[in-house]
Amino acid sequence: MSKYIKISFRSIIVILICLCTIHSSSAGNKCSIPVLVYHRIGYNSNALTVTPERLFLDLTKLKQNGYETISLKTFEEYLLGKEIQMPAKPILITFDDSYQDNYNYAFPILKQNNCIATFFVITGFIDKYSDRLTAQQIKEMYTSGMNFGSHTVSHAALSEESQDLVWNELFYSKQTLEKTLGIEIDAIAYPAGCYNSETIRIATGLGYSRGFTVRPGICKQEDPPFVIPRIPIFSYTKDVLDAIDNIQM
Ligand SMILES: [Zn+2]
Repeated sequence: MSKYIKISFRSIIVILICLCTIHSSSAGNKCSIPVLVYHRIGYNSNALTVTPERLFLDLTKLKQNGYETISLKTFEEYLLGKEIQMPAKPILITFDDSYQDNYNYAFPILKQNNCIATFFVITGFIDKYSDRLTAQQIKEMYTSGMNFGSHTVSHAALSEESQDLVWNELFYSKQTLEKTLGIEIDAIAYPAGCYNSETIRIATGLGYSRGFTVRPGICKQEDPPFVIPRIPIFSYTKDVLDAIDNIQM
């Protein structure tokens, strides 16, 4: 009996050392993080719409292949080089345009699969258009662990607009989400991927710390903070795992 206890103790210590080694190496490595971007979830022929069944299948495949969704905060801390708990294969899932179907379809499917996602909201559409997220829905999703960022006030193509308009789009969208959720909002997804150095300068001055593009790629720790690449998932994307692997090539 005492021998059994001795072996068990030794085994436990070995396991603990292994776990610590795995954890510190995954936190210390400069691993890459795929950032997926979805738009609409539903049943229409738009290339930006994927069916709920397809989203469910994507999440299942990601989980089966070891991917674990991370929060926006974890993603940001990792990029800042902080020593944090990171899964072996982290992935950030994002949704742009704040369609109502994100609440109706994506939100329950994400919860069912114990996944987290980040939703970039067009704040001028909140409680204004019936096909977009309401303030109440945004609050409920946040309470359930979902994360939020700005997608501007009116979905303006920021690189095409005047400095004043860009300032307004970035300032008021941040302010609306901060008032709605009572937290700091520091991430922006550029509508249609349109941004330039002026956009980044204004966003930095307003307290943003991350900018998400639609430039295809896998995010690396050394990437510039306002030029984060993403992997778009369209209705015609055949396989989410292939989409990630092909972009890495
Ligand atoms: Zn958009």
